[in-house]
Amino acid sequence: MQPITLTDEQRAFRESMRSFAEERIAPRAAEVDRNGVFPWDNFKDCVSMDLPGLGLGPEYGGSGADHVTQAIMVEELARVCGSTSLMMAITGLATKPISNFGSAETKARYLPRIANGDSQGSYCLSEADAGSDVAAMTCRAVRDGDSYVLNGSKHWITNAGVSDVYVVFAKTDPAAGARGVSAFVVERDHGLRIGKLETKLGMHGSPTGEVILDDVRVPAENRLGEEGEGFKIAMHTLDRSRPSIAAQAVGIAQGALDYAVGYTKQRKAFGHPIAEFQGLQFMMADMAMRTEAARLLTYRACAIIDEGDPDGELSAAGATAKCTAGDTAMAVTVDAVQLLGGVGYTTDFPLERYMRDAKITQIYEGTNQIQRVVVARSLLK
Ligand SMILES: Cc1cc2nc3c(=O)[nH]c(=O)nc-3n(C[C@H](O)[C@H](O)[C@H](O)COP(=O)(O)OP(=O)(O)OC[C@H]3O[C@@H](n4cnc5c(N)ncnc54)[C@H](O)[C@@H]3O)c2cc1C
Repeated sequence: MQPITLTDEQRAFRESMRSFAEERIAPRAAEVDRNGVFPWDNFKDCVSMDLPGLGLGPEYGGSGADHVTQAIMVEELARVCGSTSLMMAITGLATKPISNFGSAETKARYLPRIANGDSQGSYCLSEADAGSDVAAMTCRAVRDGDSYVLNGSKHWITNAGVSDVYVVFAKTDPAAGARGVSAFVVERDHGLRIGKLETKLGMHGSPTGEVILDDVRVPAENRLGEEGEGFKIAMHTLDRSRPSIAAQAVGIAQGALDYAVGYTKQRKAFGHPIAEFQGLQFMMADMAMRTEAARLLTYRACAIIDEGDPDGELSAAGATAKCTAGDTAMAVTVDAVQLLGGVGYTTDFPLERYMRDAKITQIYEGTNQIQRVVVARSLLK
């Protein structure tokens, strides 16, 4: 493992992302949360910065950036607007199975249009009765000549309705359990429908909903990998995507901490800025230490991906980063609200939004209980 220090290029990228996020994304963050609609202006601004293609190869119109750089992008967006960070994180989640398991034709068909912002992607693994236990999925794919016919429904799908490219996991051999799952790229134009959209605690600018497959016919060439490789593809993808969720959690924690520190310098009580009270200084020091520790674990997991995971430690490292960062974001945002006192509890100040947005980082891409299962398994193998 290389030591975790950023290169000059990564530092410069963080600086440009910080300015972009503060100037273009932050001013709309409260409104995005209040309106609860997908922020197309933010998406267009991200496209103008070439962010959807950041992790995609230059042959597809991307920048081919390493995973640490991709984490910095998500982190800096999350520092100002959780929903906008999620639209970029989900692009990574949806494109990874195509990049890593798609045929040359499939990659050429879908990746360039996602890189240039013409298309967006979703990742459809979960079902109503198959979340943590994804192998219990019932969505079916049946081969019929040169195509597959898909039936079933996927739940909790981020970017549902906004995306036009959906990576869908379905069973081609239900009797084979996890080994009977296959993965497909399904276009909205193949006939996929969007069902109920959820009303959520946070991430209000990111639609989450049901994706319905009702006799949807998909060309056989849209299968990713071989029949029966779907579960492996899903896990391979999550191992490489969880560090992005960790980065999102780190960004949320950092944004909440920065805001709270600024507030304590202005707000006076008992004739002093409240920042002078050691009880609050210790709280802020703990928040900063936890956030920095989570950041280092996140960059370490990213560096392992970039090195090709030579020692087979990525699953545990990604789970460690995601779990630590998610728990940190939750704890830090709760304390940040506390540092503001009464106004922290109001929508006039941004910290209740950070607290609501933080919660999901403990749940999606595998709950933090499931991350602990992954870490424990690595100890016991
Ligand atoms: C806003 C949002 C966006 C999402 N986006 C997507 C998406 O884009 N694509 C997608 O496929 N999915 C998505 N999801 C689904 C998400 O990944 C699942 O909600 C998550 O994996 C948990 O599954 P579940 O909700 O079925 O909970 P359950 O599996 O029912 O879990 C309920 C509780 O039981 C615990 N539990 C379950 N099994 C164990 C165990 N073995 N040991 C200990 N505890 C356990 C869990 O930790 C949890 O506390 C999203 C969810 C939300 C809320």
